[in-house]
Amino acid sequence: MSIQRKRKRYRLRKQVRLVFSILLSVVIIGCGWFVLMNLNEREYATVGIELDAVDEIPVLTQYIPEGRQNRPGLKRDIRWIVIHETDNFAKSADAQHHSDYLATNKDDVNSWHYTVDEDVIIHQLPDEEVGWHAGDQYTEHGGNMSGVGIEMCVNEGSDFEKTVDNTARLAAVLLNAYELDIDALKRHHDFSGKNCPAHYYKEEDWRQFVELVKSYMK
Ligand SMILES: [Zn+2]
Repeated sequence: MSIQRKRKRYRLRKQVRLVFSILLSVVIIGCGWFVLMNLNEREYATVGIELDAVDEIPVLTQYIPEGRQNRPGLKRDIRWIVIHETDNFAKSADAQHHSDYLATNKDDVNSWHYTVDEDVIIHQLPDEEVGWHAGDQYTEHGGNMSGVGIEMCVNEGSDFEKTVDNTARLAAVLLNAYELDIDALKRHHDFSGKNCPAHYYKEEDWRQFVELVKSYMK
């Protein structure tokens, strides 16, 4: 074999070794990254709870009939508790009114899990099912796909302060039940920028609501 051919083969082997070690490094780094990511990935609840009451507030279960477009039946994990206000100021717009609306209006695509007024909490959608309330469509781990939506009633003549307090108690129970920390408490605003909940979407007001929920989590 000529010296040139020997050199050529030597160079070729060197290049193959280089490519091989680069590939090996990529695989090792990739595996390491995968393991690290999975170590950080916590488990989230995938089964919802059923409540009869939260403190003294009764919880009524009135699920939207299966098969409706506002009850897509998509199962998911539970990462967020998402707070809303109905923005419906009509006198009659209490929790029962909203529950009846969700259950009977076949054309409505909106849905959420709980409606709260001054007297009662109505559970409209199992917590492990997707509802359309956060305005972020199918975003992975977003408000719709991983959030439990709670609507606070603002109907005229009702005791809104009591509604807020009832909602904070419910949110605390849910955060505890799904082993979520206070950072999992979100506004509709956090997912789509909508000014919802209207009384609490601003940072300063929101902090007060967060503190109230925290006080009930203990
Ligand atoms: Zn909202």
